[in-house]
Amino acid sequence: MPQPPVNQYRGRLAPSPTGFLHLGHARTFWVAWQRARSAQGKLIFRNEDLDYQRCKPEFVQAMYEDLRWLGLDWDEGPDITPLPGKNGQSGGPGLGGPFAPYAQSERRTFYLDAWRKLRNSGSIYPCTCSRKDLERSLSAPHEPLHGAALHESDDEVPYPGICRSKLNTAAQHDSPADVSWRFKVPDGEVIIFEDGYFGRQQFIAGQDFSDFLLWRRDDIPAYHLAVVVDDAAMQITEIVRGEDLLKSTARQLLLIRALGYHTPAYFHCPLLRDENGVRLAKRHDALSLRTLREQGASAEMLRNKFSLEMSQGRKLD
Ligand SMILES: [Zn+2]
Repeated sequence: MPQPPVNQYRGRLAPSPTGFLHLGHARTFWVAWQRARSAQGKLIFRNEDLDYQRCKPEFVQAMYEDLRWLGLDWDEGPDITPLPGKNGQSGGPGLGGPFAPYAQSERRTFYLDAWRKLRNSGSIYPCTCSRKDLERSLSAPHEPLHGAALHESDDEVPYPGICRSKLNTAAQHDSPADVSWRFKVPDGEVIIFEDGYFGRQQFIAGQDFSDFLLWRRDDIPAYHLAVVVDDAAMQITEIVRGEDLLKSTARQLLLIRALGYHTPAYFHCPLLRDENGVRLAKRHDALSLRTLREQGASAEMLRNKFSLEMSQGRKLD
């Protein structure tokens, strides 16, 4: 595998083509671009298109267009044609760069390798719980649920560990298909990390989050596995993303350790909220970049707005 120069910054833009990019996404990607460029590093575009039911090809094209309109560029990605190599040989049209492929839907073998490694090390177990099972167990008031809080953040339903007893049956599975898989978290362990924007973060495994999904029943690697595997394979040194993923970072740090990867730096951006404090991403009418552009907004106007918001956020800390 090609090695980047020591200490070279490598960041990434990793959108999912499930709709048009809105203002909130745009600001996070703009921050990611700025941090990569000011570090004179590389920026990688990764198409997170694993969810075949929600991702659409027309949104992939729109992501490229909208981000370029905003003034961003990237050094590696599905739409990048590498320059000819030293001896004049081409890297191949559309190859994307040294860590291709850059679309998650084409990276299944990487995820399968990681799944196998985690299965072999006893880090994950098959889960056969139905949604109904989970709802029933969560509504039973006398069950302590391994201490998992009932109201985990909206990113993942808390899991009470029903199938942990199946840990010793994991070796019987040659592939992840037909069941879902969960990562067994070390209950009570305090996960601490330093975030580049929000500072020191602390979460308790088994309380702030529970055994999380690693592979979905519909045979798709779960978000946490895919991003951790890709960020390691693409040698990402800093991850810039939204504040809503702070807790997921704690989960992913456990996964990174279990897979023996290097830990990247993290920079979470505050989420855009409207005047009532509602997160922009939660609003059905969240303004897409396309709409703003049609209404006459210029890229420069938006970049200035983002810059101001981020500097004000800093002062409020
Ligand atoms: Zn289960």
